[in-house]
Amino acid sequence: MGDWELLITGCGTSHGNPPWGYPQLWSEDPRDLRRRAGAVLSGPDGQVLLIDAGPDLQHQMRDPDRTWDGRSYPARCIVRCDGVLLTHDHADHSHGLNDLRHLNRLMGGTPISIFGAREHLDAVQTMFPFCFGDPDKLYYLGSPALLSVAMTDGALTDVGGLPVIAFPMSHGPAGRTTGFRCGGMAWLTDLKQLPAEADVYLRDLDLLVLDMLREQEHSTHLNWVEAQAIIARLKPRRTVLTHMGYEVKYREWEPRLPPGVVMAYDGYRCRFTA
Ligand SMILES: [Zn+2]
Ligand SMILES: [Zn+2]
Repeated sequence: MGDWELLITGCGTSHGNPPWGYPQLWSEDPRDLRRRAGAVLSGPDGQVLLIDAGPDLQHQMRDPDRTWDGRSYPARCIVRCDGVLLTHDHADHSHGLNDLRHLNRLMGGTPISIFGAREHLDAVQTMFPFCFGDPDKLYYLGSPALLSVAMTDGALTDVGGLPVIAFPMSHGPAGRTTGFRCGGMAWLTDLKQLPAEADVYLRDLDLLVLDMLREQEHSTHLNWVEAQAIIARLKPRRTVLTHMGYEVKYREWEPRLPPGVVMAYDGYRCRFTA
């Protein structure tokens, strides 16, 4: 099985950042300009999977790595989707589901499967009932044609040729989120505690993509000390920090990171073994 590519299309926390209205908090470093968290996984046979579908989805599909000049045809745009891995139903991860309809259109009406935990799929179906139902009728009505595919925790699922295992994590008082092991990569965002039972799915990681909100503690996200503890526990070969707050300025943080740990930016790419 060939390598896959991870492209971070957004690495910001729920508001995106930096925040407007606070000029003192602004950053002119383009690496600190972050869309809501998400990624594109590209397979060796042209497969395209998305992780989450947040409110910046349309921009992420048109200009996935932020290299578009804003005028010419965006040559790197995403025109195919073989499935979406949904971490949870929070707005910053799910409120772009409606924009998947353009990908339905580009694929001639082919429905898109949304993979995740039953409770999160039920929640997005309640929020966006017009996206789920008979895919043929939905597509011709101009609505997104989405299929809800509940994953069993701990079971191996083939998603577009990528072996994926879903497992539960704690988002603190916000409830459950789903972590994904995808071949040699693991995607762990929106977590506060990683249950000990998850370790069995996280051995021998080539690449860990990890929630790291900021230096200060937070009730629903890992801070830097907690993220370091997870890295020490799982010992991945490489770690990419994501879902960062405005407080985390690229230029200030980069020099302090230990070997093997980097910060994401919108457009960050790397390969991982499947
Ligand atoms: Zn989030
Ligand atoms: Zn969340």
